[in-house]
Amino acid sequence: MQDRWQLATKVIHAGRESNESGALVTPLCQSATFVFDSAEQGAARFSGSEQGYIYTRLGNPTTAELERKIAALEGSDAAAATASGMAAVSAALLANLSHGDHLVASHAVYGCTFALMTSQLAKFGIEVTLVNFIDEAAIEAAIKPNTKVIFCETPVNPHLNVFNLDVIAQIAKEHNLVSIVDNTFMTPLLQQPIKHGIDIVVHSATKYLNGHGDVIAGIVCASYEQMEVIKFEVLKDVGAVISPHDAWLILRGLKTLDVRLARHCDNAEAVANYLEHHPKVSNVYYPGLESHGGHKLLGSQMRRAGGVIAFELDASLEQSINFINQISLFSIAVSLGDAESLIQHPASMTHSPYTEEERIAAGITDNLLRISVGLESIEDIIQALEDGLVNLK
Ligand SMILES: *Cc1c(COP(=O)(O)O)cnc(C)c1O
Repeated sequence: MQDRWQLATKVIHAGRESNESGALVTPLCQSATFVFDSAEQGAARFSGSEQGYIYTRLGNPTTAELERKIAALEGSDAAAATASGMAAVSAALLANLSHGDHLVASHAVYGCTFALMTSQLAKFGIEVTLVNFIDEAAIEAAIKPNTKVIFCETPVNPHLNVFNLDVIAQIAKEHNLVSIVDNTFMTPLLQQPIKHGIDIVVHSATKYLNGHGDVIAGIVCASYEQMEVIKFEVLKDVGAVISPHDAWLILRGLKTLDVRLARHCDNAEAVANYLEHHPKVSNVYYPGLESHGGHKLLGSQMRRAGGVIAFELDASLEQSINFINQISLFSIAVSLGDAESLIQHPASMTHSPYTEEERIAAGITDNLLRISVGLESIEDIIQALEDGLVNLK
């Protein structure tokens, strides 16, 4: 029955179980540990011969509902909720890489994912090659005998480039690699990488999944076999698990994910069209625009283009900073997927760890701005941009 539901129904109902009180809303189980009826029962829970909760780092009923729901949405066997998106990325990588292994990743990835791969994993003798995933031959060329993992995000900051998941899954299968995709920008409602043959999906639930800007959390979706290592080895021992209270808040946020995304996408499409035709805007990067390279995968891989847009002003660094400081309605902040429209300056914020050369190579210009289009009235969002552009100086 649940399998036949549409995603908009699943996001509300999938993964729910009845509870003793009959409460419509899943009760929050704010408990660190669980009481056994007897010493024998405790032993049986630890040996796995009896199912049941032991300790919240190993599992919790509120967290479990979130995990069942996201697994149902992504189409994976199971999921593990984590303390942050970075904990989800770390758990997926640590479960599949050992000393002496190599991974291939897209040269554009989330800043802390880049640092995790190039700094933290490097300390443990794990090597990474970063290549442009638009160039499929370059991915193949980067694979070595000790390559174990292939990793990317799509669409990805800062230019919202879109990578073909069918091709990446195919390359992974041919070379016996584990494929991992960060699906934060899309959510399973707009894109389901597992349906394209990807092995593991990770999310920052901080963004659209929760959607209200009040939680830091993540989630990993994978097969039962992968989950044995991700959840019952890596997360158990590293300890980056979610708080049940945060899981409960995300369950609340998820109920409106489908309606929120429809509005985010409607608003973003209108903003991208407006910016593309504005004389003071030199470039707009949004896969919903026909001029964007990722547009060809709209409809097949991505249902809609999401709510994040990057654009370049026809202006200097100083004017661009002034634009951000002057604009009304938008908050200057570096998250995405919230009700509030947000604006940031990648060169000095999200991508500030890059050297100037790396920044130029990645095309992160001084006049590049990124916005996360919120849920406000589209008239007010466009008016705020219009006022800012008229006053550009
Ligand atoms: C925010 C983000 C992360 C990191 O998530 P946190 O919840 O902040 O740890 C990872 N990947 C992408 C694409 C993100 O936007």
